Amino acid sequence: QRKIRIGIAGYGNLGKGVEMAIAQSPDMELVGVFSRRNPADVQLLDSNIPVHAQNDIAQFRDQIDVLILCGGSKNDLPEQGPALAAMFNIVDSFDTHATIPEYHAAMDSAAKPAGYTAMISVGWDPGLFSLNRLYGEAILPVGATYTFWGKGLSQGHSDAVRRVPGVKAGVQYTLPAEAAIERVRNGELPELATREKHKRECYVVLADGADAKEVEQNIVSMPHYFADYDTTVNFISEQELRRDHAAMPHGGVVIRSGTSDAGTTQVMEYTLKLGSNPEFTAAVLVAYARATWRLNQSGVIGAQTVLDVAPGLLSPKSGAELRKELL
Ligand code: NAP
Repeated sequence: QRKIRIGIAGYGNLGKGVEMAIAQSPDMELVGVFSRRNPADVQLLDSNIPVHAQNDIAQFRDQIDVLILCGGSKNDLPEQGPALAAMFNIVDSFDTHATIPEYHAAMDSAAKPAGYTAMISVGWDPGLFSLNRLYGEAILPVGATYTFWGKGLSQGHSDAVRRVPGVKAGVQYTLPAEAAIERVRNGELPELATREKHKRECYVVLADGADAKEVEQNIVSMPHYFADYDTTVNFISEQELRRDHAAMPHGGVVIRSGTSDAGTTQVMEYTLKLGSNPEFTAAVLVAYARATWRLNQSGVIGAQTVLDVAPGLLSPKSGAELRKELL
């Protein structure tokens, strides 16, 4: 059987991670990367793979089985997603939870008339965590679901810190409250306020002449981002930021705690500890690209999510192999 031909649209952290994940997938080949930047300025890990201008992408319709969209959810995907879903089978990691229903509708109306499959909001949250929330609710209908994130670097909150006057550079980590997780694991079914579930930790490099007290106050009181959390601000040097905070770790846990009709406590838990958020998210996208191609080949078109995909489609192994080895 021939390899599944993959294209990457947008080459940032996630795009690079997809290149790595394809290198570990013998049933796939990367045929090209598409970027809005000058292709000569985009350096891939493997210099044998061509980089093309995003504007030329329509010429490659017959050469790509699945295009993996690696643009940002905030500005890139709402625009690129529907345009590309009308030309290719796609997988993306759209993660603005509140607008997933609208995005799903837009992707469905772009992909379906053209006969393509659009696998949206793939990754770990949304993605693998969503699946585990679903398993929890379906299996233990009487109970509660808890999601804790971290320890992890939050891109959105790091951006918010960097916009505070007097901040030269900085990062923000989200930390789960271990005491709250323990209560959930014990089956206590606690009601937890926002402040009880997560803490926020910032590492900030001050601009010349900036007042540390004032910067700290402006960060911890920022509405939506920090005001509802216990936030600590640590001031560090630029060298320390580069040395200690360049990685992008993340992860978290989804716990479903419920009771059977006899009153027996049952707890389901799914944990991720990720050394690199984009490299892991990319690996999920690549497994779902395999499923997307198979679904399209079997006539399933339009917008799909992880909740619609049978698990066996993610694996390069056959159904017979999976029944023998994993069931
Ligand atoms: P990123 O590095 O900022 O890349 C986003 C886009 O920016 C790229 O596609 C690229 O497009 C452009 N870009 C990258 N580097 C650039 C540079 N040096 N100069 C100018 N443009 C550059 O973002 P990311 O870390 O890959 O994350 C992408 C998205 O993944 C996030 O927005 C998030 O929504 C999503 N995500 C989802 C999950 C999940 O669990 N579902 C988890 C993690 C992340 P061009 O090549 O076209 O210029």
